[in-house]
Amino acid sequence: MFRDRKPKGFFYLEHRTVDSQNNIITDVHITPGNINDVDPYLERLDYQIEKFSFDTKYVGLDAGYFTAPICKGLEERKIQGAVAYRLGPHEKGKYTKNKFQYIEEWDVYACPNSRFLEYKTTTRQGYKEYVSNKEHCDICEHRDKCLVGKNDFRTIRRHVWEEHKEKVKRFVRSDVGKKIYKRRKETVERSFADPKELHGLRYCRLRGISKVREQSYMTAVAQNIKKIANMLSQSDFTYLNHTLSVKLAKYLNINFIFHIMSKPTMKIVGLSLI
Ligand code: SF4
Repeated sequence: MFRDRKPKGFFYLEHRTVDSQNNIITDVHITPGNINDVDPYLERLDYQIEKFSFDTKYVGLDAGYFTAPICKGLEERKIQGAVAYRLGPHEKGKYTKNKFQYIEEWDVYACPNSRFLEYKTTTRQGYKEYVSNKEHCDICEHRDKCLVGKNDFRTIRRHVWEEHKEKVKRFVRSDVGKKIYKRRKETVERSFADPKELHGLRYCRLRGISKVREQSYMTAVAQNIKKIANMLSQSDFTYLNHTLSVKLAKYLNINFIFHIMSKPTMKIVGLSLI
C-alpha cells in the first residue's frame, strides 16, 4: 500500500458503519489495503439497508468520500449526505476554484475579473474543462494570483455530476448538516479508536481476507455487546426500542469461527469510515 500520510507495506482496510444514535456497529467490511476507501461505500450502504431494513435519511462521511459518484449515488437513494470537503490540490496563494462562480444557464464560470470561462472539452474522467480568454488574462490585474504555472489562461474543471457535489456541500454548511457531521467524531471515530487501543485491532492476527474479517467481526461484536450492556445498565429495557433490539439481535446472530490468536502477522493501518 502506498498512500499519503500512511506507512508503506502490506495492510488491510476495515470499512465500518455505525448508527448515529447509539454508535452500534452495523457493518464491517474488509478489503486489501490497496483499494480506494470510497470504492465499496455505496455497495455496503445498500447491503445494510436491505439486510436491516434501515430507513436511512442521512449519512455523515469524512472528506475522503466527497466524490461525484458518492454524492450522486446518495441522491439517487434519497439519502442526504453530510460530507466534509477540502480544497483540491492548488498552488499556495493562488485563487482556488471557489473564487469562480458557475452560471448554470449559460454553462460558464465567471472569474474574479467578471470574465467568463467557457466550456472547451470533457476529459475521459468525466471532467468538463472551462478556459478563460487569454487576451482578457493578459491585461488582468488578478493574473499573478490567478494564473497557474506558465499558463497564460486559466482552466477550471467541473465534473459532469458536480451538481450533486454542490448540493452536498450546501447541506453540510447548514445547521443540520453541521450537526450530523459532528456526530461522526462522537460515533464512528471513537468506534475506530477503541478497537485499536483496547481490542488489539491495530494488528491482524492472521493473514488473508477471511481471517482478518473474522477478527474484525469478533472485535465488532465485543464492542457492540459492551455498548448494549452499558446502555441497559444505565436505563430500563425500553431504552432499546423493540425495532432496534430486533435489528441488533439479527446482526449479532452470526456464527463466527474463533481462531486461536497467534502472533500478529500484518497490520491494519487504515480504517476507512462509512
Ligand atoms: S487572470 Fe483571467 S481568469 Fe483570472 S481573473 Fe483575470 S481575466 Fe479572469
